[in-house]
Amino acid sequence: MGSVNLQSQTLLLQVRCSNEDLKGQRVAVIGLGTSGRAAAKLALARGASVLAVDKNEKLVPLELDPQFTEHADIQTILGYCDNSHLANADSVVVSPGVSLQDYNLSTLLQSLHELVEVQGRQVMSELDFAAEVLPKEIKVLAVTGTNGKSTVTSFAGQMLHHLDIKAFVGGNLGKPLSEAALSCLKACSMQDAYQVAVVEVSSYMMEIPNSYFCPSVAVVLNLTPDHLERHKTMQNYAAMKCRLFAHMKDPKLAVLPVGNPYLNESFSNHANGCNVAWIDDFPGIKVNVETKVATLSTPTGSTTHLLLGDLKAMGTHNYSNAAVAAFSVLGLNLGIDSDTINSTVGKLHLLPHRMQVVCTDAHGVTWVDDSKATNVESTYAGLMGLNEHKSVVLLGGLAKVLNDQETNGFEQLVGLLNRHRGVITFGSSGAMIHKTLCDSGLRIPCVNTKNLEDAVNCARTMAMRGDMILLSPGCASFDEFRNFEHRGKVFQHLAVSA
Ligand code: ADP
Repeated sequence: MGSVNLQSQTLLLQVRCSNEDLKGQRVAVIGLGTSGRAAAKLALARGASVLAVDKNEKLVPLELDPQFTEHADIQTILGYCDNSHLANADSVVVSPGVSLQDYNLSTLLQSLHELVEVQGRQVMSELDFAAEVLPKEIKVLAVTGTNGKSTVTSFAGQMLHHLDIKAFVGGNLGKPLSEAALSCLKACSMQDAYQVAVVEVSSYMMEIPNSYFCPSVAVVLNLTPDHLERHKTMQNYAAMKCRLFAHMKDPKLAVLPVGNPYLNESFSNHANGCNVAWIDDFPGIKVNVETKVATLSTPTGSTTHLLLGDLKAMGTHNYSNAAVAAFSVLGLNLGIDSDTINSTVGKLHLLPHRMQVVCTDAHGVTWVDDSKATNVESTYAGLMGLNEHKSVVLLGGLAKVLNDQETNGFEQLVGLLNRHRGVITFGSSGAMIHKTLCDSGLRIPCVNTKNLEDAVNCARTMAMRGDMILLSPGCASFDEFRNFEHRGKVFQHLAVSA
Protein backbone atom coordinates (compact mmCIF):
# COMPACT_ATOMS: atom_id res chain seq x y z
CA MET A 1 0.00 0.00 0.00
CA GLY A 2 1.37 3.39 -0.90
CA SER A 3 1.25 6.35 1.39
CA VAL A 4 0.55 9.80 0.04
CA ASN A 5 2.09 13.03 1.22
CA LEU A 6 1.24 16.52 0.15
CA GLN A 7 4.18 18.16 -1.60
CA SER A 8 3.64 21.34 0.34
CA GLN A 9 4.30 19.80 3.76
CA THR A 10 7.32 21.94 4.44
CA LEU A 11 5.54 25.17 3.62
CA LEU A 12 4.36 27.40 6.36
CA LEU A 13 0.66 27.26 6.95
CA GLN A 14 -1.29 30.13 5.42
CA VAL A 15 -3.63 30.53 8.36
CA ARG A 16 -6.37 32.89 7.26
CA CYS A 17 -6.97 34.26 10.75
CA SER A 18 -4.57 34.85 13.61
CA ASN A 19 -4.85 34.41 17.36
CA GLU A 20 -5.72 38.08 17.66
CA ASP A 21 -7.83 38.83 14.60
CA LEU A 22 -11.03 39.32 16.62
CA LYS A 23 -9.39 41.33 19.43
CA GLY A 24 -11.73 43.98 20.74
CA GLN A 25 -14.73 42.30 19.14
CA ARG A 26 -17.69 40.64 20.80
CA VAL A 27 -18.92 37.33 19.41
CA ALA A 28 -22.35 36.08 20.47
CA VAL A 29 -22.68 32.31 20.29
CA ILE A 30 -26.25 31.02 20.28
CA GLY A 31 -26.77 27.42 21.38
CA LEU A 32 -24.29 25.89 23.82
CA GLY A 33 -24.16 22.27 22.73
CA THR A 34 -20.96 20.71 21.40
CA SER A 35 -20.78 22.98 18.34
CA GLY A 36 -21.57 26.19 20.22
CA ARG A 37 -18.98 25.45 22.88
CA ALA A 38 -16.35 24.70 20.25
CA ALA A 39 -17.23 27.95 18.46
CA ALA A 40 -16.95 29.85 21.76
CA LYS A 41 -13.47 28.40 22.31
CA LEU A 42 -12.49 29.37 18.78
CA ALA A 43 -13.78 32.92 19.28
CA LEU A 44 -11.80 33.25 22.51
CA ALA A 45 -8.68 31.86 20.81
CA ARG A 46 -9.11 34.55 18.14
CA GLY A 47 -9.07 37.21 20.86
CA ALA A 48 -12.79 38.02 21.02
CA SER A 49 -14.97 38.33 24.08
CA VAL A 50 -17.88 35.90 24.06
CA LEU A 51 -21.56 36.30 24.85
CA ALA A 52 -22.85 32.75 25.22
CA VAL A 53 -26.61 32.25 24.93
CA ASP A 54 -28.87 29.25 25.40
CA LYS A 55 -32.54 28.99 26.30
CA ASN A 56 -31.89 26.01 28.60
CA GLU A 57 -31.70 27.52 32.09
CA LYS A 58 -30.26 24.34 33.55
CA LEU A 59 -26.96 24.51 31.66
CA VAL A 60 -23.76 25.38 33.48
CA PRO A 61 -22.69 28.91 32.45
CA LEU A 62 -19.44 28.86 30.49
CA GLU A 63 -17.77 31.06 33.13
CA LEU A 64 -18.16 28.15 35.59
CA ASP A 65 -17.14 25.42 33.15
CA PRO A 66 -13.56 24.26 33.92
CA GLN A 67 -12.80 24.22 30.17
CA PHE A 68 -13.38 27.99 30.04
CA THR A 69 -12.32 29.26 33.46
CA GLU A 70 -8.99 30.66 32.23
CA HIS A 71 -10.93 33.15 30.09
CA ALA A 72 -12.26 36.30 31.72
CA ASP A 73 -14.05 37.51 28.61
CA ILE A 74 -17.21 35.42 28.79
CA GLN A 75 -20.76 36.27 29.71
CA THR A 76 -23.43 33.58 29.61
CA ILE A 77 -27.14 34.30 29.38
CA LEU A 78 -29.38 31.29 30.00
CA GLY A 79 -33.14 31.32 29.49
CA TYR A 80 -34.63 34.52 28.17
CA CYS A 81 -32.20 36.63 26.19
CA ASP A 82 -33.16 40.14 25.21
CA ASN A 83 -32.35 40.62 21.55
CA SER A 84 -30.62 43.89 22.37
CA HIS A 85 -27.77 41.81 23.86
CA LEU A 86 -27.32 40.09 20.54
CA ALA A 87 -27.66 43.27 18.57
CA ASN A 88 -24.59 44.63 20.42
CA ALA A 89 -22.40 41.79 19.20
CA ASP A 90 -20.01 42.25 16.28
CA SER A 91 -20.70 38.71 15.09
CA VAL A 92 -23.42 36.23 15.92
CA VAL A 93 -22.53 32.56 15.54
CA VAL A 94 -25.53 30.23 15.44
CA SER A 95 -25.25 26.55 16.39
CA PRO A 96 -26.94 24.02 14.11
CA GLY A 97 -29.30 22.96 16.90
CA VAL A 98 -30.86 26.43 17.00
CA SER A 99 -33.63 26.96 14.49
CA LEU A 100 -34.00 30.42 13.04
CA GLN A 101 -37.51 30.36 14.54
CA ASP A 102 -36.05 30.16 18.05
CA TYR A 103 -35.51 33.43 19.91
CA ASN A 104 -37.31 35.08 17.00
CA LEU A 105 -33.91 34.71 15.42
CA SER A 106 -35.19 35.09 11.91
CA THR A 107 -36.36 38.60 12.73
CA LEU A 108 -33.21 39.38 14.64
CA LEU A 109 -30.99 37.91 11.97
CA GLN A 110 -32.85 39.82 9.33
CA SER A 111 -32.14 43.07 11.14
CA LEU A 112 -28.53 42.03 11.76
CA HIS A 113 -28.15 41.07 8.11
CA GLU A 114 -29.23 44.60 7.29
CA LEU A 115 -26.56 45.85 9.67
CA VAL A 116 -23.92 43.72 7.95
CA GLU A 117 -23.68 46.06 5.04
CA VAL A 118 -23.70 49.15 7.20
CA GLN A 119 -21.49 48.14 10.08
CA GLY A 120 -19.61 45.05 8.92
CA ARG A 121 -21.40 42.74 11.35
CA GLN A 122 -21.71 39.08 10.60
CA VAL A 123 -24.31 36.42 11.31
CA MET A 124 -22.75 33.04 10.70
CA SER A 125 -23.25 29.36 11.15
CA GLU A 126 -20.77 27.54 13.34
CA LEU A 127 -19.58 25.78 10.18
CA ASP A 128 -18.75 29.05 8.45
CA PHE A 129 -17.18 30.60 11.55
CA ALA A 130 -14.81 27.62 11.62
CA ALA A 131 -14.24 27.62 7.85
CA GLU A 132 -13.12 31.26 8.00
CA VAL A 133 -10.06 30.05 9.89
CA LEU A 134 -9.18 26.94 7.87
CA PRO A 135 -5.99 27.44 5.83
CA LYS A 136 -6.46 27.30 2.07
CA GLU A 137 -4.03 24.35 1.86
CA ILE A 138 -6.51 22.09 3.66
CA LYS A 139 -8.75 20.33 1.19
CA VAL A 140 -12.31 19.99 2.35
CA LEU A 141 -14.55 17.07 1.45
CA ALA A 142 -18.15 17.80 2.46
CA VAL A 143 -20.81 15.09 2.65
CA THR A 144 -24.52 15.71 3.00
CA GLY A 145 -27.79 13.96 2.06
CA THR A 146 -30.76 12.48 3.89
CA ASN A 147 -29.20 9.06 4.55
CA GLY A 148 -25.68 7.66 4.57
CA LYS A 149 -23.82 10.87 5.51
CA SER A 150 -22.03 9.46 8.53
CA THR A 151 -21.15 6.23 6.75
CA VAL A 152 -19.64 7.97 3.73
CA THR A 153 -17.85 10.53 5.91
CA SER A 154 -16.43 7.78 8.05
CA PHE A 155 -15.44 5.61 5.04
CA ALA A 156 -13.65 8.58 3.40
CA GLY A 157 -11.89 9.38 6.68
CA GLN A 158 -10.81 5.76 7.11
CA MET A 159 -9.48 5.61 3.52
CA LEU A 160 -7.40 8.73 4.14
CA HIS A 161 -6.09 7.43 7.46
CA HIS A 162 -5.09 4.12 5.86
CA LEU A 163 -3.15 6.14 3.29
CA ASP A 164 -1.36 8.12 6.02
CA ILE A 165 -3.05 11.36 5.05
CA LYS A 166 -3.71 13.47 8.11
CA ALA A 167 -7.45 14.07 8.03
CA PHE A 168 -9.91 15.74 10.36
CA VAL A 169 -13.18 13.79 10.32
CA GLY A 170 -16.14 15.55 11.88
CA GLY A 171 -18.78 18.22 11.46
CA ASN A 172 -22.20 16.79 12.17
CA LEU A 173 -20.45 13.51 13.00
CA GLY A 174 -18.43 13.73 16.21
CA LYS A 175 -16.19 16.78 16.49
CA PRO A 176 -17.45 20.15 15.21
CA LEU A 177 -15.38 21.87 12.52
CA SER A 178 -14.47 24.59 15.05
CA GLU A 179 -12.20 22.02 16.71
CA ALA A 180 -10.29 21.56 13.45
CA ALA A 181 -10.08 25.34 13.10
CA LEU A 182 -8.75 25.69 16.64
CA SER A 183 -6.04 23.13 16.01
CA CYS A 184 -5.10 24.97 12.79
CA LEU A 185 -4.66 28.18 14.77
CA LYS A 186 -2.23 26.31 17.01
CA ALA A 187 -0.36 24.49 14.20
CA CYS A 188 2.62 26.35 12.74
CA SER A 189 3.43 24.33 9.65
CA MET A 190 1.69 21.93 7.28
CA GLN A 191 3.56 19.15 9.04
CA ASP A 192 1.47 19.74 12.16
CA ALA A 193 -1.76 20.51 10.34
CA TYR A 194 -4.54 18.50 8.79
CA GLN A 195 -4.16 17.91 5.07
CA VAL A 196 -7.84 17.18 4.57
CA ALA A 197 -11.04 17.90 6.47
CA VAL A 198 -13.86 15.43 5.83
CA VAL A 199 -16.98 17.19 7.06
CA GLU A 200 -20.43 15.70 7.48
CA VAL A 201 -22.87 18.54 6.90
CA SER A 202 -26.51 18.47 7.98
CA SER A 203 -29.18 20.72 6.53
CA TYR A 204 -29.39 22.48 9.91
CA MET A 205 -25.77 23.56 9.54
CA MET A 206 -26.63 25.32 6.28
CA GLU A 207 -29.63 27.35 7.38
CA ILE A 208 -27.51 30.49 7.26
CA PRO A 209 -25.77 30.77 3.86
CA ASN A 210 -22.00 30.28 3.90
CA SER A 211 -19.39 32.82 2.94
CA TYR A 212 -16.22 30.86 3.70
CA PHE A 213 -17.08 27.16 3.59
CA CYS A 214 -15.98 26.10 0.12
CA PRO A 215 -15.26 22.37 -0.28
CA SER A 216 -12.95 20.93 -2.94
CA VAL A 217 -15.43 18.06 -3.26
CA ALA A 218 -19.03 18.24 -2.05
CA VAL A 219 -21.44 15.30 -2.13
CA VAL A 220 -25.22 15.23 -1.76
CA LEU A 221 -25.92 11.50 -1.40
CA ASN A 222 -29.71 11.51 -1.72
CA LEU A 223 -32.72 13.59 -0.73
CA THR A 224 -36.02 12.23 0.58
CA PRO A 225 -38.57 13.83 2.93
CA ASP A 226 -37.04 14.43 6.38
CA HIS A 227 -36.65 17.33 8.83
CA LEU A 228 -39.66 19.00 7.26
CA GLU A 229 -40.86 20.21 10.65
CA ARG A 230 -37.93 22.64 10.41
CA HIS A 231 -37.50 23.20 6.66
CA LYS A 232 -41.26 23.05 5.80
CA THR A 233 -40.87 22.15 2.10
CA MET A 234 -38.69 19.81 0.05
CA GLN A 235 -37.60 22.83 -2.00
CA ASN A 236 -36.24 24.51 1.15
CA TYR A 237 -34.62 21.27 2.28
CA ALA A 238 -32.91 20.83 -1.12
CA ALA A 239 -31.77 24.45 -1.06
CA MET A 240 -30.04 23.94 2.31
CA LYS A 241 -28.14 21.00 0.85
CA CYS A 242 -27.19 22.78 -2.37
CA ARG A 243 -25.80 25.80 -0.53
CA LEU A 244 -22.70 23.61 -0.25
CA PHE A 245 -21.95 24.32 -3.91
CA ALA A 246 -22.45 28.08 -3.83
CA HIS A 247 -18.77 29.11 -3.90
CA MET A 248 -17.30 26.10 -5.72
CA LYS A 249 -15.73 26.76 -9.14
CA ASP A 250 -13.80 24.58 -11.60
CA PRO A 251 -11.88 22.30 -10.76
CA LYS A 252 -13.94 21.73 -7.61
CA LEU A 253 -16.25 18.76 -7.84
CA ALA A 254 -19.95 18.39 -7.01
CA VAL A 255 -21.38 14.87 -6.65
CA LEU A 256 -25.17 14.40 -6.81
CA PRO A 257 -27.67 11.56 -7.23
CA VAL A 258 -29.02 11.34 -10.73
CA GLY A 259 -32.68 12.15 -11.33
CA ASN A 260 -33.73 13.90 -8.12
CA PRO A 261 -35.98 16.78 -9.29
CA TYR A 262 -35.61 18.84 -6.09
CA LEU A 263 -31.82 18.61 -6.20
CA ASN A 264 -31.66 19.25 -9.94
CA GLU A 265 -33.61 22.47 -9.57
CA SER A 266 -31.78 23.60 -6.48
CA PHE A 267 -28.38 22.71 -7.94
CA SER A 268 -29.00 24.87 -10.97
CA ASN A 269 -29.96 27.74 -8.65
CA HIS A 270 -26.91 27.39 -6.41
CA ALA A 271 -24.04 25.95 -8.46
CA ASN A 272 -21.66 28.39 -9.98
CA GLY A 273 -19.21 26.73 -12.36
CA CYS A 274 -17.91 23.60 -10.62
CA ASN A 275 -17.53 20.15 -12.21
CA VAL A 276 -20.40 17.72 -11.74
CA ALA A 277 -20.44 13.94 -11.31
CA TRP A 278 -23.43 11.70 -10.64
CA ILE A 279 -24.25 8.86 -8.32
CA ASP A 280 -25.61 6.15 -10.65
CA ASP A 281 -24.55 7.75 -13.92
CA PHE A 282 -21.44 8.89 -15.81
CA PRO A 283 -19.43 10.94 -15.32
CA GLY A 284 -19.68 9.64 -11.79
CA ILE A 285 -20.20 6.37 -9.97
CA LYS A 286 -21.99 3.19 -11.04
CA VAL A 287 -22.01 0.11 -8.83
CA ASN A 288 -22.64 -3.39 -10.13
CA VAL A 289 -23.89 -5.25 -7.04
CA GLU A 290 -23.68 -8.63 -8.81
CA THR A 291 -19.99 -8.36 -9.74
CA LYS A 292 -19.24 -6.13 -6.70
CA VAL A 293 -17.32 -3.69 -8.88
CA ALA A 294 -17.83 0.06 -8.99
CA THR A 295 -16.85 2.08 -12.04
CA LEU A 296 -15.66 5.56 -11.16
CA SER A 297 -15.48 7.97 -14.07
CA THR A 298 -14.41 11.57 -13.57
CA PRO A 299 -15.71 14.63 -15.46
CA THR A 300 -12.18 14.96 -16.90
CA GLY A 301 -12.48 11.55 -18.55
CA SER A 302 -10.42 9.13 -16.44
CA THR A 303 -11.95 5.83 -15.32
CA THR A 304 -11.08 3.65 -12.32
CA HIS A 305 -12.53 0.41 -11.01
CA LEU A 306 -13.14 -0.17 -7.31
CA LEU A 307 -13.33 -3.79 -6.20
CA LEU A 308 -15.90 -4.12 -3.42
CA GLY A 309 -15.73 -7.87 -2.80
CA ASP A 310 -13.64 -7.40 0.35
CA LEU A 311 -15.97 -4.82 1.90
CA LYS A 312 -16.96 -6.01 5.36
CA ALA A 313 -20.24 -4.14 5.65
CA MET A 314 -23.70 -5.66 5.47
CA GLY A 315 -26.15 -4.23 2.90
CA THR A 316 -25.67 -3.40 -0.77
CA HIS A 317 -26.21 0.31 -0.05
CA ASN A 318 -22.80 0.17 1.58
CA TYR A 319 -21.20 -0.74 -1.78
CA SER A 320 -22.51 2.57 -3.02
CA ASN A 321 -21.36 4.35 0.14
CA ALA A 322 -17.82 2.96 -0.23
CA ALA A 323 -17.73 3.82 -3.94
CA VAL A 324 -18.89 7.40 -3.32
CA ALA A 325 -16.29 7.76 -0.56
CA ALA A 326 -13.51 6.47 -2.87
CA PHE A 327 -14.63 8.69 -5.75
CA SER A 328 -14.68 11.73 -3.48
CA VAL A 329 -11.26 10.98 -2.02
CA LEU A 330 -9.84 10.59 -5.54
CA GLY A 331 -11.57 13.87 -6.46
CA LEU A 332 -9.45 15.70 -3.89
CA ASN A 333 -6.51 15.29 -6.32
CA LEU A 334 -4.02 14.21 -3.69
CA GLY A 335 -2.16 11.94 -6.11
CA ILE A 336 -3.87 8.72 -4.99
CA ASP A 337 -4.01 6.04 -7.68
CA SER A 338 -6.51 3.25 -8.31
CA ASP A 339 -4.47 0.45 -6.64
CA THR A 340 -3.91 2.57 -3.58
CA ILE A 341 -7.59 3.37 -3.03
CA ASN A 342 -8.51 -0.27 -3.71
CA SER A 343 -6.12 -1.36 -0.96
CA THR A 344 -8.29 0.39 1.64
CA VAL A 345 -11.66 -1.25 0.86
CA GLY A 346 -11.17 -4.43 2.89
CA LYS A 347 -10.13 -2.37 5.93
CA LEU A 348 -13.28 -0.24 6.14
CA HIS A 349 -15.66 -0.77 9.01
CA LEU A 350 -19.15 0.54 9.68
CA LEU A 351 -20.05 2.89 12.51
CA PRO A 352 -22.16 1.34 15.32
CA HIS A 353 -25.96 1.00 14.88
CA ARG A 354 -25.74 0.94 11.05
CA MET A 355 -26.46 -2.67 10.02
CA GLN A 356 -24.24 -3.76 12.90
CA VAL A 357 -24.18 -7.51 13.47
CA VAL A 358 -24.64 -7.89 17.23
CA CYS A 359 -24.43 -11.67 17.70
CA THR A 360 -25.74 -15.03 16.58
CA ASP A 361 -27.65 -16.54 19.50
CA ALA A 362 -27.92 -20.14 20.73
CA HIS A 363 -30.91 -20.68 18.39
CA GLY A 364 -28.89 -19.75 15.30
CA VAL A 365 -30.60 -16.37 14.94
CA THR A 366 -28.42 -13.39 13.97
CA TRP A 367 -29.28 -10.04 15.53
CA VAL A 368 -28.62 -6.91 13.48
CA ASP A 369 -28.81 -3.37 14.85
CA ASP A 370 -29.72 -0.70 12.28
CA SER A 371 -31.13 1.68 14.90
CA LYS A 372 -29.76 4.62 12.91
CA ALA A 373 -32.44 3.94 10.28
CA THR A 374 -34.69 6.76 11.49
CA ASN A 375 -36.76 7.21 8.33
CA VAL A 376 -38.49 4.92 5.85
CA GLU A 377 -35.89 5.37 3.11
CA SER A 378 -33.02 4.25 5.33
CA THR A 379 -34.99 1.13 6.33
CA TYR A 380 -35.69 0.55 2.64
CA ALA A 381 -31.94 0.72 1.90
CA GLY A 382 -31.22 -1.70 4.73
CA LEU A 383 -33.84 -4.20 3.52
CA MET A 384 -32.69 -3.94 -0.11
CA GLY A 385 -29.33 -5.37 0.80
CA LEU A 386 -30.75 -8.44 2.59
CA ASN A 387 -32.12 -10.53 -0.23
CA GLU A 388 -30.55 -13.81 0.84
CA HIS A 389 -31.53 -13.58 4.51
CA LYS A 390 -35.03 -14.06 5.89
CA SER A 391 -35.59 -11.62 8.72
CA VAL A 392 -38.00 -10.66 11.41
CA VAL A 393 -38.06 -6.88 11.00
CA LEU A 394 -38.73 -4.51 13.90
CA LEU A 395 -40.37 -1.25 12.80
CA GLY A 396 -41.54 1.54 15.06
CA GLY A 397 -40.89 4.41 17.42
CA LEU A 398 -41.97 7.89 16.45
CA ALA A 399 -42.74 8.12 12.72
CA LYS A 400 -41.53 11.23 10.91
CA VAL A 401 -44.11 13.76 9.81
CA LEU A 402 -44.39 13.96 6.05
CA ASN A 403 -45.44 17.27 4.60
CA ASP A 404 -48.45 16.05 2.64
CA GLN A 405 -49.79 14.07 5.65
CA GLU A 406 -51.52 11.61 3.31
CA THR A 407 -49.16 8.73 4.05
CA ASN A 408 -46.53 7.78 6.57
CA GLY A 409 -44.46 6.20 3.77
CA PHE A 410 -44.32 2.68 5.25
CA GLU A 411 -46.36 1.25 2.37
CA GLN A 412 -43.15 1.56 0.28
CA LEU A 413 -41.65 -1.26 2.34
CA VAL A 414 -44.37 -3.85 1.70
CA GLY A 415 -42.84 -5.39 -1.44
CA LEU A 416 -39.50 -5.90 0.28
CA LEU A 417 -41.02 -7.07 3.57
CA ASN A 418 -43.09 -9.76 1.85
CA ARG A 419 -39.85 -11.71 1.24
CA HIS A 420 -39.21 -11.94 4.96
CA ARG A 421 -40.38 -13.97 7.97
CA GLY A 422 -42.46 -11.38 9.77
CA VAL A 423 -42.81 -7.81 11.02
CA ILE A 424 -43.15 -6.55 14.57
CA THR A 425 -44.27 -2.96 15.03
CA PHE A 426 -43.79 -1.11 18.30
CA GLY A 427 -43.80 2.26 20.03
CA SER A 428 -46.01 5.31 19.69
CA SER A 429 -46.40 4.94 15.90
CA GLY A 430 -46.53 1.13 15.97
CA ALA A 431 -50.29 0.76 15.52
CA MET A 432 -50.33 3.27 12.66
CA ILE A 433 -47.46 1.49 10.87
CA HIS A 434 -49.17 -1.88 11.46
CA LYS A 435 -52.37 -0.59 9.86
CA THR A 436 -50.53 0.95 6.91
CA LEU A 437 -48.66 -2.28 6.16
CA CYS A 438 -51.76 -4.49 6.51
CA ASP A 439 -53.84 -2.11 4.35
CA SER A 440 -51.08 -2.11 1.70
CA GLY A 441 -50.92 -5.83 1.00
CA LEU A 442 -48.49 -7.21 3.58
CA ARG A 443 -48.73 -10.99 3.34
CA ILE A 444 -46.37 -12.06 6.15
CA PRO A 445 -47.28 -12.17 9.87
CA CYS A 446 -47.36 -8.71 11.46
CA VAL A 447 -47.82 -8.11 15.19
CA ASN A 448 -48.08 -4.78 16.99
CA THR A 449 -46.46 -4.48 20.43
CA LYS A 450 -46.13 -1.76 23.04
CA ASN A 451 -42.41 -1.11 23.18
CA LEU A 452 -39.02 -2.35 21.96
CA GLU A 453 -38.68 -4.97 24.68
CA ASP A 454 -42.06 -6.51 23.81
CA ALA A 455 -41.14 -6.35 20.13
CA VAL A 456 -37.89 -8.22 20.79
CA ASN A 457 -39.69 -10.91 22.82
CA CYS A 458 -42.24 -11.35 20.05
CA ALA A 459 -39.50 -11.47 17.37
CA ARG A 460 -37.72 -14.19 19.30
CA THR A 461 -40.78 -16.45 19.12
CA MET A 462 -41.19 -15.79 15.38
CA ALA A 463 -37.59 -16.19 14.16
CA MET A 464 -36.35 -19.57 12.91
CA ARG A 465 -32.81 -20.98 12.85
CA GLY A 466 -30.76 -19.14 10.20
CA ASP A 467 -32.99 -16.04 10.30
CA MET A 468 -32.04 -12.53 11.28
CA ILE A 469 -33.80 -10.25 13.73
CA LEU A 470 -33.31 -6.80 12.26
CA LEU A 471 -33.99 -3.57 14.12
CA SER A 472 -34.29 -1.04 11.28
CA PRO A 473 -37.13 0.99 12.75
CA GLY A 474 -37.72 3.69 10.12
CA CYS A 475 -38.70 6.06 12.95
CA ALA A 476 -37.18 8.49 15.41
CA SER A 477 -36.53 7.04 18.87
CA PHE A 478 -37.64 9.85 21.17
CA ASP A 479 -40.94 8.25 22.28
CA GLU A 480 -38.96 5.68 24.30
CA PHE A 481 -35.27 6.52 24.15
CA ARG A 482 -32.86 9.44 24.43
CA ASN A 483 -31.61 8.93 20.87
CA PHE A 484 -30.89 6.23 18.26
CA GLU A 485 -27.71 5.18 20.09
CA HIS A 486 -29.68 4.56 23.29
CA ARG A 487 -32.28 2.53 21.35
CA GLY A 488 -29.53 0.51 19.65
CA LYS A 489 -27.76 -0.22 22.92
CA VAL A 490 -30.98 -1.43 24.56
CA PHE A 491 -31.63 -3.67 21.54
CA GLN A 492 -28.09 -5.06 21.72
CA HIS A 493 -28.48 -5.72 25.43
CA LEU A 494 -31.76 -7.57 24.84
CA ALA A 495 -30.11 -9.56 22.02
CA VAL A 496 -27.19 -10.84 24.06
CA SER A 497 -29.33 -11.54 27.14
CA ALA A 498 -31.58 -13.89 25.14
P1 ADP B 1 -26.90 9.77 8.24
O1 ADP B 1 -25.64 10.23 8.87
O2 ADP B 1 -27.22 10.50 6.97
O3 ADP B 1 -28.07 9.69 9.17
P2 ADP B 1 -25.86 7.05 8.36
O4 ADP B 1 -24.63 6.80 7.56
O5 ADP B 1 -25.71 7.23 9.81
O6 ADP B 1 -26.64 8.28 7.71
O7 ADP B 1 -26.89 5.89 8.05
C1 ADP B 1 -28.22 5.99 8.59
C2 ADP B 1 -29.08 4.89 8.06
O8 ADP B 1 -29.32 5.14 6.69
C3 ADP B 1 -28.41 3.52 8.14
O9 ADP B 1 -28.89 2.86 9.26
C4 ADP B 1 -28.80 2.83 6.85
O10 ADP B 1 -29.90 1.99 7.07
C5 ADP B 1 -29.24 3.95 5.92
N1 ADP B 1 -28.29 4.24 4.84
C6 ADP B 1 -26.95 4.22 4.87
N2 ADP B 1 -26.45 4.55 3.67
C7 ADP B 1 -27.50 4.80 2.86
C8 ADP B 1 -27.64 5.21 1.50
N3 ADP B 1 -26.59 5.42 0.72
N4 ADP B 1 -28.89 5.36 1.02
C9 ADP B 1 -29.96 5.15 1.78
N5 ADP B 1 -29.90 4.76 3.06
C10 ADP B 1 -28.69 4.59 3.61
